[in-house]
Amino acid sequence: MSRFRSHEIFHRALELMPGGVNSPARAFGGVGGEPLVIERAEGAYLYDVDGNRYIDYIGSWGPMILGHGNDKVRAAIHAAVDQGTSFGAPTERENHLAELIIDIVPSVEKVRLVNSGTEATMSAIRLARGYTGRDKIIKFAGNYHGHVDSLLVAAGSAAATLGVPNSPGVTAGTTADTIVLPYNDVETLTAAFEQHGDQLACVIFEPIVGNMGTVVPTPDFLAAIRDLCTKHGAVMLMDEVMTGFRVALGGAQELFGVTPDLTTMGKIVGGGLPIAAYGGRADILNHVLPAGKVFQAGTLSGNPLATAAGIATLSILQETNPYPQLDKLSERLMTGLGQAATDAGVAHSVARVGSMATLFFGEGPVVDWDTAAKSDTKRYADFFWGLIDRGVYFPCSQFEALFLSVTHTEADIDATIAAAREALGA
Ligand SMILES: *Cc1c(COP(=O)(O)O)cnc(C)c1O
Repeated sequence: MSRFRSHEIFHRALELMPGGVNSPARAFGGVGGEPLVIERAEGAYLYDVDGNRYIDYIGSWGPMILGHGNDKVRAAIHAAVDQGTSFGAPTERENHLAELIIDIVPSVEKVRLVNSGTEATMSAIRLARGYTGRDKIIKFAGNYHGHVDSLLVAAGSAAATLGVPNSPGVTAGTTADTIVLPYNDVETLTAAFEQHGDQLACVIFEPIVGNMGTVVPTPDFLAAIRDLCTKHGAVMLMDEVMTGFRVALGGAQELFGVTPDLTTMGKIVGGGLPIAAYGGRADILNHVLPAGKVFQAGTLSGNPLATAAGIATLSILQETNPYPQLDKLSERLMTGLGQAATDAGVAHSVARVGSMATLFFGEGPVVDWDTAAKSDTKRYADFFWGLIDRGVYFPCSQFEALFLSVTHTEADIDATIAAAREALGA
């Protein structure tokens, strides 16, 4: 398998962009070696510039639940291009996407469209503070909410992979009001509310963590966040940028029957184009400018191409309900991977909710950042490269979830399991 052109292009990129990439998760820092340069994608497959084909399990890190190049999504983008790519004025398409989101996501009564998940969480935190008139926020170690200054403490995703939980350039003042707690730990959460309850603006959390590998919440934990926020007048801010439209059409809040006050969305909501959103209770959203006083704006927000892709994607998900099929396929995959690891005598644990999942190389169970961090990342790196050599593209870090799309077939899954067995020596 030649990687010569990838090598050439990446070396040129190193001179042009920091680390040769525009987002650190792409640089293969968690597995070593050089990233593959991708030329195109179709359905469940990625093709690199050397003509190698890979079964894709990252789906652009979540958005591509319909697979690459879905006909209807492409047609919607094409039609939008011909009408104009950006106006800086209201469009009817923004109503259509907002209606879909409000219809689909149980707790959302009103919504504001933005351009990235980072913008969504940054704006939602500002709104929670503006609404409550309070400063302090709680986040959980290993949860990732984008590169918002106040949230870059004990953050997951590339921050976890690269071991820089606290970024230079983030001032102590910015994070002074951020309280970091262990995930799935009701006791420390209750204690934090007892100590700071009347100063807490919000609790921001991933309802199923994807950014330290997949970590499932206990029912107690989600219920405690809800009860404590209600009791102390803090905003429950569920970050569904990854889980929204992924683990169920209505996201984790539908799956678990838990109702947050604010929700952030991204990834799937834009169907592969840059769009994200925050929404929730109308009485809270009405504090956002120009309805209220909390400032938030965006030149390209609600962009015509991005809303077209988002509308097409959510409509297809609503009409086709692919979730039972995705669940079945990913169960087949993770059962096969678990069996491969068992047969190879490798310590492991499997975490999965619907079509997001992780094979952890460690005894488990993984319940929080401390237990996730015990994983054998060297073994994960070997496994990753063993799969790449066999045409399977897994997340380039132990601490990132894998995703399936509706275009993956049972044959793809079985080929992946066979590749994993070889890679692990099962
Ligand atoms: C990806 C992600 C973000 C950040 O979204 P970007 O579009 O990358 O800025 C925020 N929160 C969660 C849970 C995510 O998975």
